[in-house]
Amino acid sequence: MRIGFGWDSHEFKAGVPLRIGGVSLPHDKGLSGHSDGDVLLHALTDALLGAVAAGDIGGYFPPSDPKWKGADSVIFVKEALKQVRRAGYIVANVDSTLILAEPKIGPHSSNIQERVAELLGITPGQVGIKAKTPEGLNLDNAAIAHVAVLLVVTEKEKKSRKPPIKKPRKKK
Ligand SMILES: [Zn+2]
Repeated sequence: MRIGFGWDSHEFKAGVPLRIGGVSLPHDKGLSGHSDGDVLLHALTDALLGAVAAGDIGGYFPPSDPKWKGADSVIFVKEALKQVRRAGYIVANVDSTLILAEPKIGPHSSNIQERVAELLGITPGQVGIKAKTPEGLNLDNAAIAHVAVLLVVTEKEKKSRKPPIKKPRKKK
């Protein structure tokens, strides 16, 4: 088994569409910054990459590269998933916490849950989506995401891994 953790934050900006977890949410502001600013998918990408010690999102998709401006963050998750599969793992489950003042995530959480599950090729029951408001943090203009993932080794990979060779004990 492998565990991964990812964290991300973005600032709200007027006139930008809001995307969270690969879902468009109705709101007067969106998240600015790298790509489409999907804070949840960025944290998920880092969690997946971290679980297989394959670097971080910035290493694959540098924010300085204009190519990724306004890009769909689904591309980042797909690349991270490719690295996970290459290492011989599949996703067992994902848990996440979003921290943002607005909009309310509750009415959209099942949509986000289904979309993230679809992206990862798992069931919604394997994806936890939780949201909180940033009480006492003075962060009303930002969205933060924390994501933890658990990976398990695939059956194919398990079979290909040879058992450790026992060294014969030297006689004294
Ligand atoms: Zn980000």
